[in-house]
Amino acid sequence: MTPTEQELIRRQRARKRARLRRLKRRRAILISIMALVLVLLVWGIVSVVRFIFFREPVDPAAVVTPDWIDVQLLDENPYSRPGTPLERINDIVVHYTANPGTTAQQNRNYFNSLAQQNGESATSVSSHFIIGLDGEIIQCIPLSEISYASNDRNFDTVSIECCHPEADGKFTDATYQSLIRLCAWLENELKLKEGSIIRHYDVTGKLCPLYFVEHESKWNQFKEDVKDYRKQQD
Ligand SMILES: [Zn+2]
Repeated sequence: MTPTEQELIRRQRARKRARLRRLKRRRAILISIMALVLVLLVWGIVSVVRFIFFREPVDPAAVVTPDWIDVQLLDENPYSRPGTPLERINDIVVHYTANPGTTAQQNRNYFNSLAQQNGESATSVSSHFIIGLDGEIIQCIPLSEISYASNDRNFDTVSIECCHPEADGKFTDATYQSLIRLCAWLENELKLKEGSIIRHYDVTGKLCPLYFVEHESKWNQFKEDVKDYRKQQD
């Protein structure tokens, strides 16, 4: 072979090696991109699943009460404010007082008077909030503590008692509007899922709140009204 031929072969080999290096580099880049896409895809799927199925719970103790709620906490006592921690809230339970014509203040004072009981026939009952006939809202128990209102669901719910003028349990318009406002505020603050407003009836079958048990369509309308109220606020 002449030196020129040798030189030609050397160059050919050099080109081949360079081509191989380029191919390897491209393959490495392609694999890196595919791995990155796969990681992003898995991360995206996990995020969506977590968002839909696993709500990050809000610490009820971190919620700040607005000034349109009149805070009159009960004295700590075993019968109406046991001080048991309420660590997470999953639902809002609506009740009626079943005591026509009584005011929010009277009901709050009644809960507080239970502290004076002793003996075996003691009554244990209370509620986080009471809405009065004029729409006034009294808070009796902090969101970070349980109330005695909703039986098996006391441990993960917030309770609202509503006053009513007559035995049929129908709320006044002022009470109704305040109930919408309070439920919307709680849903927003506690980041509750849609459908988180329930009746005492849905927990135990008790006829409470009576009017909304006897008039299912009015109850559904109420939940729609809360939804609309929240949409208007957005
Ligand atoms: Zn009830």
